[in-house]
Amino acid sequence: RSKDVGGNVHCTYEPVLHAHADERRKLEAALRRALGRGEMRMAYQPVVDAGTEGVVGFEALLRWDSADHGSVSPAKFIPLAEDTRLIVPIGEWVLREACREATNWPAHVRIAVNVSGEQLHDGNFASTVANALTSTGLPPHRLEIEVTESVFLRDDAPARAALDQVIALGCGVALDDFGTGYSSLGYLRRMRFSTIKIDRSFVQGAAAGNRESLAIIRAIVAMADSLGMSTTAEGAETEKEVEIIRQLGCRKIQGYLFGRPMTGRDAQVLFRERALPSGQSAA
Ligand code: C2E
Ligand code: MG
Ligand code: MG
Ligand code: MG
Repeated sequence: RSKDVGGNVHCTYEPVLHAHADERRKLEAALRRALGRGEMRMAYQPVVDAGTEGVVGFEALLRWDSADHGSVSPAKFIPLAEDTRLIVPIGEWVLREACREATNWPAHVRIAVNVSGEQLHDGNFASTVANALTSTGLPPHRLEIEVTESVFLRDDAPARAALDQVIALGCGVALDDFGTGYSSLGYLRRMRFSTIKIDRSFVQGAAAGNRESLAIIRAIVAMADSLGMSTTAEGAETEKEVEIIRQLGCRKIQGYLFGRPMTGRDAQVLFRERALPSGQSAA
């Protein structure tokens, strides 16, 4: 993160850095207005049961179509939203929007919503979640909050307290991108995660014949099973990857092979098709 780009920059000697800071300021100004201008929308990516391949959930993924900057990647605007704390109001909107959309789906289908550490440190996170649930009427057990290992860095007590409150509401908490961060088994003992999401890099590695990736997935699945946590393999793009994931006993799969992030409307259509007995087509 380029937090240091500010007053001490020697513009004459650092024209590239200066242009970068200027671009960032423009992006930040646009991000500040994005919600009010209706430039934000949610995409939903299916999560399927590894055995039946039926849709058991969706992950809500934020999209920003900026009038000034075009379609901006989450990899770019999420860190900016975190640095500026704009992620707090944006995240509140995301929660409500995703919960509202999920009320259109069959009752067994859950919605997973990504949350940043800044939102957990805000102090109001659990009530924001409770408000999203009551205002949309979504039952708490249908919502799963996704966090990455990074939220447990530094002083993790506030983050753990916020997540414990969310669990007390009846929601699930998933540990996202597992294995890529500063993995520590300590928080697996302290936090009752509903799901561990195995990062795409391990899935890719295992399919490419990398023995270490294979061993790590096997170990994560065994650990999750004995801790009573579910597992989701992220980023499955090929049949080969799916076959290995299934052999390793991973419970759920998410990836382009089963569906890309799509509009809420397309998610509903996908359901109507999948809900029909095989052999019948949607009207
Ligand atoms: P994530 O939570 O790990 O989400 C999964 C990312 O992997 C998504 O990227 C998704 O589009 C992508 N993906 C899914 N399946 C495949 C696949 O088969 N192949 C490949 N190559 N990629 C796949 P996306 O939508 O660009 O989001 C990137 C990250 O931005 C997310 O990673 C999450 O950390 C963050 N993010 C997205 N929406 C939100 C949000 O509403 N709030 C917060 N705080 N963060 C968000
Ligand atoms: Mg996620
Ligand atoms: Mg992930
Ligand atoms: Mg990620």
